[in-house]
Amino acid sequence: MNNVDEIRLDSRFAELKSCHTRTDPDPLPEPEMAHFNVPLAKEMGIDPEQEILLEILSGNRPWPGYAPISSVYAGHQFGSWVSRLGDGRAHMIAEIVRADGKRVELQLKGSGRTPYSRGADGRAVLRSSIREYLCSEAMHALGVPTTRCLSLVSSPLPVARERMETAAIVCRVSPSFVRFGHFEYFSGDREVLGALADHVISAHFPHLEGPEKYASWLSEVVERTAKLMAKWQSMGFCHGVMNTDNFSILGLTIDYGPFGFMDVFRQHHVCNHSDYEGRYAYGAQPDIGLWNVSCLLQATYSLLSENDEEGAQMASEIYKGYVSAFSREALRLWTGKLGFAEVREGDAALVGRFLTLLQNKRLDFTKSFRNLARPEWVEGMDETWLSDYRARTAAEAMEECLRISKMNSVNPKYVLRNHLAQGAIEKAESGDYSEIGKLMQILSRPYDEQPENERYAEPPSSDLPAIEVSCSS
Ligand code: AMP
Ligand code: MG
Repeated sequence: MNNVDEIRLDSRFAELKSCHTRTDPDPLPEPEMAHFNVPLAKEMGIDPEQEILLEILSGNRPWPGYAPISSVYAGHQFGSWVSRLGDGRAHMIAEIVRADGKRVELQLKGSGRTPYSRGADGRAVLRSSIREYLCSEAMHALGVPTTRCLSLVSSPLPVARERMETAAIVCRVSPSFVRFGHFEYFSGDREVLGALADHVISAHFPHLEGPEKYASWLSEVVERTAKLMAKWQSMGFCHGVMNTDNFSILGLTIDYGPFGFMDVFRQHHVCNHSDYEGRYAYGAQPDIGLWNVSCLLQATYSLLSENDEEGAQMASEIYKGYVSAFSREALRLWTGKLGFAEVREGDAALVGRFLTLLQNKRLDFTKSFRNLARPEWVEGMDETWLSDYRARTAAEAMEECLRISKMNSVNPKYVLRNHLAQGAIEKAESGDYSEIGKLMQILSRPYDEQPENERYAEPPSSDLPAIEVSCSS
């Protein structure tokens, strides 16, 4: 394990001068480490025991040898074009090379105003920071591509939202924080657009270097995005703010705000109370992913050919790849959840009927899928569906115990339900961070039976008030 000043640094993103501005975090007063992700620190080769980490991760001191930057990007927010957004409250504080040669970037979120703050305060509240911290690590453990979180630092600094709250900073970790919106911002500037694409390809898609690299790269981004949408749906996850500035060029889940894992299943579930029209409803996510991909291709097709018409033609071919990639992946994931080793005719219908059943009977999504692996389980189930399902299962060549263990490795027992996050938030707001650690532990093994934590697998009781999450963060 290394001291921070012994960690190897990189500067590949910092060298793309047009993409960011040099700017320092605003120091956070009286910082306290509410949670530190020791396993992630160790993965990066960082000695977790250093006192200097609290100073760095609260924005009170720079990472030795790296000058902080905030990045510029644009985006489509709820379908409307915004020509300039950017890191309004985030600072990249290091690009590091891990011992295994992998390179990751560290970014503080909630670390004060930047040139891209657009009049806002540059801060993040403890409530939303806890949600981002817990959910990114929960998603990672579920096997969903995501940015990660290294630390959660809190402070008594007051922050005004609908009510007065207090400030916090999470340190996010990702191979890259480049978004679709970066390419939209530089769309008209062929030179910077090319330099940014070259950087992304050489740092993150090195296997695609070659004469056709832009086409291969865009095809892979399209495929990763399609697969991510399928994965989100298969976990009952709603992102909540699928703006193009919140879409990662690596196909990672990024910018956790008013997200939600569904309890009761509803295709039209909208997790974000600021999303009045339901644009980002659970069932709409695949179409929105496609819409966002079209924005990315619109912004980048000039890279594909000197000839505009030819470039547009190539982009439209790449665009078509989304639907097939999504359908294939979705069917693979859903049939896997039902316990089938391969897809057969009629499987898609069986999945569809199961989801309709969950919706009509108001059943819990996570629990119902988990229970499918229990042969004796019939609670709430429709007899016809169940007998069709059992007949299909009987046709599987796999041993029953193997099938059950495979199902349990794709149907999680534990997800970050809103009421669980809320419990940790309420305790933390009164100064007790223990529930954050408890949830981190449980959610790091989402597929394991944890008899001592059974109540964390339960849906919220019906007498709990509904929890509303909005864009306010
Ligand atoms: P989000 O909805 O969190 O993805 O944010 C959309 C845009 O608003 C991004 O450019 C953010 O950096 C910016 N933003 C959100 N909240 C704040 C804040 N409190 N201060 C400054 N910028 C913010
Ligand atoms: Mg964002």
